[in-house]
Amino acid sequence: ARRIVLASRPKGKPTTENFRTETVLLSSPSPGEVLVKALYLSVDPYMRGRMSESKSYVPPYEIGGVVGGGAVAEVVESNDDRLQPGDIVSGQFGWQTYAIVPAKHLRKIDPALAPITASLGLLGVTGLTAYFGLVDICKPQRNETVVVSGAAGAVGMTVGQIAKILGCRVVGVAGSDEKVRYLTEQLGFDEAINYKTAENMTRALKHACPNGIDVYFDNVGGDISDAAFRNLNTGARISVCGQIALYNLEQPDVGPRLLTPILIHRALVKGFIITDYADRFPEGVQQLAKWYRDGQLKFEETIAEGFDQTVEAFLGLFTGANLGKQIVRV
Ligand code: NDP
Repeated sequence: ARRIVLASRPKGKPTTENFRTETVLLSSPSPGEVLVKALYLSVDPYMRGRMSESKSYVPPYEIGGVVGGGAVAEVVESNDDRLQPGDIVSGQFGWQTYAIVPAKHLRKIDPALAPITASLGLLGVTGLTAYFGLVDICKPQRNETVVVSGAAGAVGMTVGQIAKILGCRVVGVAGSDEKVRYLTEQLGFDEAINYKTAENMTRALKHACPNGIDVYFDNVGGDISDAAFRNLNTGARISVCGQIALYNLEQPDVGPRLLTPILIHRALVKGFIITDYADRFPEGVQQLAKWYRDGQLKFEETIAEGFDQTVEAFLGLFTGANLGKQIVRV
C-alpha cells in the first residue's frame, strides 16, 4: 500500500515538502478487521490544524504518521461478519491506498441512496456541519438575511441552499467571479460578493444586505467577518464554524476587534465542533437526504484524479482551487 505521512510540521502555509509518500506491505486482517481499498479520500481545512503541534479539539498528527481523515473504500478481504468483500464503506483511515481497519470503525454505505462520494460531503461531515451550524445555532427565520462566508465551498454552499429552503434572503462571499456566478445562477443565492475584488467589504455587504444581516455563518474569519459584524441587525446570530483565513498565519491576527456591534445589537456568537452533534447525525442525514432527493439541495464536488494528487488537492483549499467538496479519486 502507498500512504502519505507528515514529514514535518508546516510553518505558515503548508508545502509539498511537509509530506512524504511511503510504500508499506500489509498483512491479512486479524479477527474483527477488514482490508479495504481506498476509492476516494477527503481533504479538509481542519487537517491544517492537526499538522501543528498545539492542542486543539483533535490531537495533532504525529511526525511520520499517516495523515488521518475521511475516506470511502471497498472491502477487499473481511475477517468480520458485519462486512463482505465488495461492500462500500466510509471510515477515517486517511491518506492511504489500502488499509487494515477494525470493522467497527467503518460504516457501510448504500450506493443506491446517492453517489458514494456524498458520504464525504453533503451526507457526511460538511453537510452535517452546514445543517446543525445553521439550523440549530442560528435558527434562521423566513425573510431574514443570511450571509455565509466561504460560500462556494462544501460547507458554505450547503448553508446557503438550506437558508434558501427556509425562505431566507441569502448572500454568499467567495473568492472568484466564477464562484459568484455559480452561487447566484446555479444555486439560487440572492447575491454573492467576490471578496478578492470588492473594494470595501463593509460597503459591499451593506449594499447586498439592504435590511442588514440577521444571520452570519462564518467559515473564514478575518476581514470578511469584520465587515459582516459592521452590518449586523439587533438580535443577530453568528455561527463560528471555521477561520480558514487565519489557519496559515504565523502571527495571530490581532485586530480590529469588533465586539462593540455584538454588544449594541445583542448578537449571539457561538462556536461549535460538528462532533458535538454526533447523537443527532441520523436526523441530520435524513433531512439532508430528503432535500437532496426532492431536488432542493444540490451537491458539487471537485475531484482530483489520482492518489499522487492528494497533497496538491489539500493545498488547493487554501487558494480556493475547489468548488464544493474537494475529494481525491485514488
Ligand atoms: P471548503 O470547501 O470551503 O474549502 C475551503 C475554501 O475556503 C476555499 O475553497 C476558499 O474559497 C476559502 N478560503 C481559503 N482561504 C481563504 C481566505 N484566506 N479567506 C477567505 N476564504 C478562504 O472547505 P470546507 O467546506 O470543508 O470547510 C469550510 C470551513 O468550515 C473551514 O474553515 C473549516 O475549517 C470549517 N469546518 C468546521 C467544522 C466544525 O466542526 N466547526 C467542520 C467542517 C469544516 P475562496 O475561493 O472563496 O477563497
